[in-house]
Amino acid sequence: MAAVVITEDDQRIRELMARVLAEKGYEVEGAGTALDGLQRIVQYSPDVVVLDMGLPDLDGAELLKMIRAVTDVPVVVATARSEDRDVILTLDAGADDYLVKPFSVEQLEARVRAVLRRSASESMKPVVNVGGLMLDPGSRIATLEGSSLQLSPKEFDLLLYLAEHEGTVISKRQLMAEVWRQPYGGSEKTVDVHISWLRKKLGESAADSRYLETVYGVGVKLVDPT
Ligand code: CA
Repeated sequence: MAAVVITEDDQRIRELMARVLAEKGYEVEGAGTALDGLQRIVQYSPDVVVLDMGLPDLDGAELLKMIRAVTDVPVVVATARSEDRDVILTLDAGADDYLVKPFSVEQLEARVRAVLRRSASESMKPVVNVGGLMLDPGSRIATLEGSSLQLSPKEFDLLLYLAEHEGTVISKRQLMAEVWRQPYGGSEKTVDVHISWLRKKLGESAADSRYLETVYGVGVKLVDPT
Protein backbone atom coordinates (compact mmCIF):
# COMPACT_ATOMS: atom_id res chain seq x y z
CA MET A 1 0.00 0.00 0.00
CA ALA A 2 1.46 3.31 -1.11
CA ALA A 3 1.51 6.22 1.33
CA VAL A 4 0.59 9.76 0.26
CA VAL A 5 1.03 13.06 2.11
CA ILE A 6 -1.39 15.75 0.88
CA THR A 7 -0.47 19.34 1.75
CA GLU A 8 -3.48 21.52 0.96
CA ASP A 9 -4.89 24.32 3.09
CA ASP A 10 -8.42 24.13 1.71
CA GLN A 11 -9.94 21.64 4.11
CA ARG A 12 -12.80 20.70 1.78
CA ILE A 13 -10.45 19.89 -1.13
CA ARG A 14 -7.97 18.12 1.17
CA GLU A 15 -10.64 15.88 2.66
CA LEU A 16 -12.08 15.08 -0.75
CA MET A 17 -8.65 14.12 -2.14
CA ALA A 18 -7.87 12.12 0.99
CA ARG A 19 -11.16 10.24 0.84
CA VAL A 20 -10.83 9.33 -2.83
CA LEU A 21 -7.21 8.21 -2.48
CA ALA A 22 -8.05 6.22 0.66
CA GLU A 23 -10.88 4.48 -1.26
CA LYS A 24 -8.33 3.53 -3.91
CA GLY A 25 -6.23 1.87 -1.22
CA TYR A 26 -3.69 4.58 -0.43
CA GLU A 27 -2.59 5.38 3.08
CA VAL A 28 -3.19 9.13 3.35
CA GLU A 29 -1.85 11.83 5.67
CA GLY A 30 -3.22 15.33 5.29
CA ALA A 31 -1.58 18.62 6.26
CA GLY A 32 -3.05 22.13 6.10
CA THR A 33 0.18 24.12 6.26
CA ALA A 34 3.59 23.90 4.63
CA LEU A 35 5.42 23.25 7.88
CA ASP A 36 2.95 20.58 8.96
CA GLY A 37 3.34 19.02 5.51
CA LEU A 38 7.13 19.00 5.74
CA GLN A 39 6.97 17.45 9.20
CA ARG A 40 4.68 14.65 7.98
CA ILE A 41 6.88 14.00 4.95
CA VAL A 42 9.92 13.62 7.21
CA GLN A 43 7.98 11.52 9.72
CA TYR A 44 6.16 9.15 7.32
CA SER A 45 8.56 8.95 4.32
CA PRO A 46 5.60 8.73 1.91
CA ASP A 47 5.83 7.20 -1.58
CA VAL A 48 4.34 10.32 -3.13
CA VAL A 49 3.50 13.88 -2.08
CA VAL A 50 0.61 15.99 -3.37
CA LEU A 51 1.40 19.65 -2.85
CA ASP A 52 -0.81 22.74 -3.16
CA MET A 53 1.23 25.78 -4.21
CA GLY A 54 -0.83 28.40 -2.36
CA LEU A 55 -0.30 27.68 1.33
CA PRO A 56 -0.86 30.10 4.22
CA ASP A 57 2.55 29.94 5.91
CA LEU A 58 5.00 29.36 3.05
CA ASP A 59 4.84 29.45 -0.72
CA GLY A 60 4.54 25.94 -2.19
CA ALA A 61 7.68 26.50 -4.27
CA GLU A 62 9.65 27.25 -1.09
CA LEU A 63 8.27 24.12 0.52
CA LEU A 64 9.20 22.12 -2.56
CA LYS A 65 12.82 23.28 -2.21
CA MET A 66 12.80 22.23 1.44
CA ILE A 67 11.35 18.83 0.51
CA ARG A 68 14.01 18.40 -2.16
CA ALA A 69 16.72 19.15 0.37
CA VAL A 70 15.71 16.06 2.35
CA THR A 71 14.12 13.59 -0.10
CA ASP A 72 13.68 12.56 -3.74
CA VAL A 73 10.05 11.51 -3.10
CA PRO A 74 7.87 12.07 -6.20
CA VAL A 75 5.88 15.31 -5.87
CA VAL A 76 2.69 16.10 -7.76
CA VAL A 77 1.94 19.80 -7.55
CA ALA A 78 -1.67 21.00 -7.51
CA THR A 79 -1.74 24.61 -8.58
CA ALA A 80 -4.27 27.28 -9.44
CA ARG A 81 -1.57 29.09 -11.37
CA SER A 82 -1.79 28.05 -14.97
CA GLU A 83 0.72 30.59 -16.25
CA ASP A 84 3.58 28.97 -18.09
CA ARG A 85 6.23 30.72 -16.04
CA ASP A 86 4.93 29.36 -12.75
CA VAL A 87 4.67 25.86 -14.11
CA ILE A 88 8.27 25.99 -15.32
CA LEU A 89 9.50 27.34 -11.99
CA THR A 90 7.61 24.56 -10.24
CA LEU A 91 9.10 21.83 -12.38
CA ASP A 92 12.55 23.36 -12.05
CA ALA A 93 12.13 23.35 -8.28
CA GLY A 94 11.81 19.57 -8.50
CA ALA A 95 8.15 18.69 -9.04
CA ASP A 96 7.54 15.46 -10.94
CA ASP A 97 4.16 16.38 -12.32
CA TYR A 98 1.50 19.00 -11.87
CA LEU A 99 -2.23 19.49 -12.07
CA VAL A 100 -3.89 22.82 -12.73
CA LYS A 101 -6.96 23.55 -10.62
CA PRO A 102 -9.76 22.79 -10.99
CA PHE A 103 -9.05 19.11 -11.57
CA SER A 104 -11.05 15.97 -10.93
CA VAL A 105 -10.00 13.53 -8.24
CA GLU A 106 -9.79 10.89 -10.97
CA GLN A 107 -7.13 13.02 -12.68
CA LEU A 108 -5.28 13.36 -9.38
CA GLU A 109 -5.36 9.62 -8.80
CA ALA A 110 -4.12 8.97 -12.34
CA ARG A 111 -1.13 11.33 -11.83
CA VAL A 112 -0.31 9.79 -8.46
CA ARG A 113 -0.43 6.33 -10.01
CA ALA A 114 1.77 7.46 -12.91
CA VAL A 115 4.53 8.94 -10.74
CA LEU A 116 4.49 5.84 -8.53
CA ARG A 117 4.83 3.61 -11.58
CA ARG A 118 7.72 5.73 -12.85
CA SER A 119 9.56 5.69 -9.54
CA ALA A 120 9.06 1.91 -9.22
CA SER A 121 10.39 1.20 -12.71
CA GLU A 122 13.18 3.74 -12.13
CA SER A 123 14.47 1.88 -9.10
CA MET A 124 14.62 -1.36 -11.13
CA LYS A 125 16.78 0.19 -13.85
CA PRO A 126 20.39 -0.95 -14.16
CA VAL A 127 23.44 1.21 -13.40
CA VAL A 128 24.65 3.20 -16.43
CA ASN A 129 28.35 3.83 -17.09
CA VAL A 130 29.62 6.23 -19.74
CA GLY A 131 33.36 6.90 -19.61
CA GLY A 132 34.10 8.04 -16.06
CA LEU A 133 30.46 8.73 -15.34
CA MET A 134 28.35 6.33 -13.26
CA LEU A 135 24.62 6.74 -12.64
CA ASP A 136 22.66 4.42 -10.36
CA PRO A 137 18.89 4.95 -10.85
CA GLY A 138 18.03 2.80 -7.81
CA SER A 139 19.98 4.78 -5.23
CA ARG A 140 20.03 7.92 -7.42
CA ILE A 141 23.76 8.23 -6.90
CA ALA A 142 25.92 9.82 -9.59
CA THR A 143 29.71 9.81 -9.65
CA LEU A 144 32.33 11.22 -11.98
CA GLU A 145 35.69 9.47 -11.85
CA GLY A 146 34.70 8.08 -8.47
CA SER A 147 33.76 11.44 -6.93
CA SER A 148 30.14 11.97 -6.01
CA LEU A 149 28.16 14.50 -8.07
CA GLN A 150 25.62 16.60 -6.18
CA LEU A 151 22.75 16.72 -8.67
CA SER A 152 19.22 18.02 -8.23
CA PRO A 153 16.51 15.43 -9.01
CA LYS A 154 15.86 16.93 -12.45
CA GLU A 155 19.57 17.15 -13.24
CA PHE A 156 19.89 13.48 -12.33
CA ASP A 157 16.90 12.52 -14.50
CA LEU A 158 18.24 14.53 -17.43
CA LEU A 159 21.74 13.09 -17.20
CA LEU A 160 20.35 9.58 -16.81
CA TYR A 161 18.13 9.93 -19.86
CA LEU A 162 21.05 11.20 -21.95
CA ALA A 163 23.36 8.46 -20.62
CA GLU A 164 20.79 5.80 -21.45
CA HIS A 165 20.85 7.13 -25.01
CA GLU A 166 24.63 7.53 -25.20
CA GLY A 167 25.82 8.84 -28.57
CA THR A 168 22.30 9.70 -29.78
CA VAL A 169 21.28 13.31 -30.36
CA ILE A 170 18.15 14.03 -28.34
CA SER A 171 16.02 17.06 -29.18
CA LYS A 172 15.02 19.52 -26.47
CA ARG A 173 11.38 18.81 -27.29
CA GLN A 174 11.96 15.14 -26.58
CA LEU A 175 13.73 15.98 -23.31
CA MET A 176 10.78 18.17 -22.29
CA ALA A 177 8.49 15.22 -22.99
CA GLU A 178 10.60 12.47 -21.44
CA VAL A 179 12.32 14.17 -18.51
CA TRP A 180 9.86 16.95 -17.67
CA ARG A 181 6.74 15.06 -18.81
CA GLN A 182 5.63 18.07 -20.81
CA PRO A 183 5.15 16.88 -24.37
CA TYR A 184 3.22 19.97 -25.44
CA GLY A 185 3.91 22.77 -23.00
CA GLY A 186 6.95 24.16 -21.30
CA SER A 187 9.93 26.09 -22.50
CA GLU A 188 12.97 24.55 -24.11
CA LYS A 189 14.93 27.14 -22.17
CA THR A 190 14.40 24.92 -19.13
CA VAL A 191 16.50 22.27 -20.90
CA ASP A 192 19.22 24.81 -21.77
CA VAL A 193 19.43 25.97 -18.16
CA HIS A 194 19.72 22.43 -16.81
CA ILE A 195 22.31 21.49 -19.42
CA SER A 196 24.45 24.47 -18.39
CA TRP A 197 24.14 23.50 -14.70
CA LEU A 198 25.13 19.92 -15.56
CA ARG A 199 28.10 21.16 -17.57
CA LYS A 200 29.30 23.15 -14.57
CA LYS A 201 29.00 20.11 -12.31
CA LEU A 202 30.79 17.91 -14.84
CA GLY A 203 33.57 20.51 -15.03
CA GLU A 204 33.05 21.40 -18.66
CA SER A 205 31.60 24.21 -20.77
CA ALA A 206 29.72 24.57 -24.05
CA ALA A 207 32.91 25.81 -25.71
CA ASP A 208 35.02 23.06 -24.19
CA SER A 209 32.68 20.09 -23.92
CA ARG A 210 33.58 16.57 -22.90
CA TYR A 211 30.44 14.57 -22.09
CA LEU A 212 27.67 16.93 -23.17
CA GLU A 213 27.81 17.82 -26.82
CA THR A 214 25.35 20.32 -28.26
CA VAL A 215 24.41 19.69 -31.87
CA TYR A 216 23.35 23.12 -33.02
CA GLY A 217 19.72 23.30 -34.07
CA VAL A 218 19.12 19.63 -33.31
CA GLY A 219 19.67 18.91 -29.63
CA VAL A 220 22.20 17.44 -27.27
CA LYS A 221 23.97 14.12 -26.88
CA LEU A 222 26.06 12.51 -24.21
CA VAL A 223 29.30 10.98 -25.41
CA ASP A 224 32.15 9.00 -23.90
CA PRO A 225 35.12 11.37 -24.00
CA THR A 226 37.62 8.72 -22.90
CA1 CA B 1 -4.34 26.74 -1.26
